Order: sequence, then C-alpha cells, then structure tokens
Amino acid sequence: MNSDCIFCRIAAGEIPCAKIYESEEILAFLDIAPVNKGHALLIPKRHHENFFDLPDEIAGVLLADLKRVGAAVMAATKADGLNLGMNNYEAAGQLVMHAHFHLIPRFLDDGLNHWGQKSYESQDEMNAFAEKIRSSLA
Ligand code: 5GP
Ligand code: ZN
Repeated sequence: MNSDCIFCRIAAGEIPCAKIYESEEILAFLDIAPVNKGHALLIPKRHHENFFDLPDEIAGVLLADLKRVGAAVMAATKADGLNLGMNNYEAAGQLVMHAHFHLIPRFLDDGLNHWGQKSYESQDEMNAFAEKIRSSLA
C-alpha cells in the first residue's frame, strides 16, 4: 500500500468508490470523470506503477477480469462498443501511477474521435521499425 497513491487508498477502502467488482487481487469501480457514463477502471489492489511492473500472474488475472467486467459494462450501458485502454507512463497520459485499465463504453453516435494517425516515409522505414522492435524483444 502506497499511502500517497489514490488508487491504493481506494483499494484499501479509505476513499469511497462506486464499486463494480472485487476479488482478493482485483478491484473495478467507476471513473469519477467518465468519457461516457459507465466508464470503469480495473486495477490490481497491490501497488504496481504500470502494466510492465505487473507480475505475470496478476496480469493474467487482470486480463481475465477485464473480459468479465468489460462484458458487464457493455451489457449494462447497452453500448455499441467498448474501448479498453491503459496509459503507461506520463508521456502516454498516465496521471495516476497505479496500473489501471480503462473500460469505456462507446456508442455509434457519441461523437468521439480517435487520435490522429501518421504515415511512414517508405516501406523500408516501416520494416526498419519492425526489425528494431523484433530485436528488442526480451
Ligand atoms: P490515467 O490518465 O492515469 O490513465 O487516468 C486516471 C483516471 O482516474 C482518470 O480518468 C480520472 O478521472 C480517474 N480518477 C482520478 N482520481 C479518481 C478518484 O479519486 N476516484 C475515481 N473513481 N476515479 C479517479
Ligand atoms: Zn497505488
């Protein structure tokens, strides 16, 4: 438990939340500032900063629960789709440094746009990126 961490404090019951689901290791609750109503967060109860810090067993349990809670969010909100997302590190928009998935119900007419896309200069440049990433696999 990191007492400076808002999600640790929610997991410990020190700060209230609109709880959806809880197991020994995982908690799901509504985001206080939803992209669409029903926007939920799924977290490991123990403090891990981001996805890459999660022990594999916890990542596995988190993903299984993501499927189950995601289906419930979609069913309950009658959503047409669901964005599952995780911001890792400040540059990716992570504000709360306790790993969490966002489950965002989406509607055909919700007016939200996806982020912009770029292009590669050439096929060679694209292949070079793929090669760099392949050779970085641990
Ligand atoms: P991040 O940018 O780190 O991926 O997203 C953090 C999310 O946590 C934001 O969407 C924000 O609205 C939500 N959040 C921050 N503080 C609280 C809180 O005290 N309670 C709840 N339920 N959500 C919070
Ligand atoms: Zn924490």
